Amino acid sequence: MLRERPFDYIGDVADTTNTPNPEPAFNDPALQQVAAWATEQAQRDAARARLIADINRRQISEREAGHKTPGWYAATTHTSLAHANTVVTTSIRLVHEFPALLEALEHARITWQHAEAFVRAANPRIAHLLAELTPELVDLAQVATFRRWTRELRGIANQLDQDGGYNPNNDPAANRLYIGTLDDGTTEIRATLHGELALIVKSVLTAHTDHLRRRYQTDHDTTNGDIDIPDTAQLAAEALPDLLDTRTTADNTDRPVIEPEVVVLYNPDTDTATDTDGNSLDPTAIRWVLAAGFIRLFEITEDRDVLRMGKLNRYANTHQRKALLVRDGGCIFPGCTRHANRCDAHHVDHHTPDPNDPSGPTDIENLGLLCRHHHRITHRPGWLMERWTDPNSPTAILFRWRTPTGRTIYSQRHGVTWIPKAA
Ligand SMILES: [Zn+2]
Repeated sequence: MLRERPFDYIGDVADTTNTPNPEPAFNDPALQQVAAWATEQAQRDAARARLIADINRRQISEREAGHKTPGWYAATTHTSLAHANTVVTTSIRLVHEFPALLEALEHARITWQHAEAFVRAANPRIAHLLAELTPELVDLAQVATFRRWTRELRGIANQLDQDGGYNPNNDPAANRLYIGTLDDGTTEIRATLHGELALIVKSVLTAHTDHLRRRYQTDHDTTNGDIDIPDTAQLAAEALPDLLDTRTTADNTDRPVIEPEVVVLYNPDTDTATDTDGNSLDPTAIRWVLAAGFIRLFEITEDRDVLRMGKLNRYANTHQRKALLVRDGGCIFPGCTRHANRCDAHHVDHHTPDPNDPSGPTDIENLGLLCRHHHRITHRPGWLMERWTDPNSPTAILFRWRTPTGRTIYSQRHGVTWIPKAA
């Protein structure tokens, strides 16, 4: 079912299967003590998992205390229900689905934090496949930082999911955003984003965060240090409402130009693309950021040496944008009222990553303005956008969409849909 060495992620890790997690030799007793407790903690967490799974199976907390297991755990430990739910779910799944992982926890080869991350990644589509890779992931935990480990875990989980045919980039419902109020009244925003939504949020927010940092830097310099430069988290928090406030974004020429940039590392040998953190990028998402005009593509070798700027970094230049504004006026999806400066130039003939392939020139015959919403629609599976020629106006650059249900939708120009005259 799985290839022999299925993932680059864990191929280079030394085989530590039979090496117990070595007790680091610290000299200071405080260091020794805390390190020893960490080992004990993992053992206790494993024991707790077995007990909680048993408590839940026998439903004894309901009999004795009138609570389901998570409610009982939250009430007894005075922790939040969300935390209790995670503890109970992780415990049950460790016992019933991932016994090898539970054993690794028992031997302190992983921590509870690893177990929670693993269970979270193991969605029902891939849980059994991920379980098969437990030995490799436990080995990796011996030599990797937690951050690196979770990234590999996510990469593996994504790949397994895609081998199974699931691609979150093709599943609009996989994008989630929650706004909640915490117990102390503060607002918490939590989002899970995929594909181009993830790239746009990350790149635009990062660009504006950097812009605010430069502004603070100027203030800092001119006041001889009276004004501090906030940390990145605070700057990002200040950037978000700035970006969302449409009163300042619409038609305000004083507004600073944000130049978001997505750096894509493309490996021609493996035909794979990643962001600078090594997260793999879906081709759909790349085509989209390319069209959005803020991609910077580097072709790299296996060792991440930059070969050259790929041809993919050709994007609609200012002149072409002006030409598109003149021709299209705004989003060309019929009925849409988005203004051109809120649109992307979409390449109808997609670029291919091969630098010798002449297809997909960034000529304006291959570009059409699309707002973000209709751009996303266009990239959905089953949708095909193509050029078409009106026999009555053979020189006009026109587009149409084939929808998943077989309908044809004709593009508009300046808000007027261009429909072929009946023959
Ligand atoms: Zn639109």
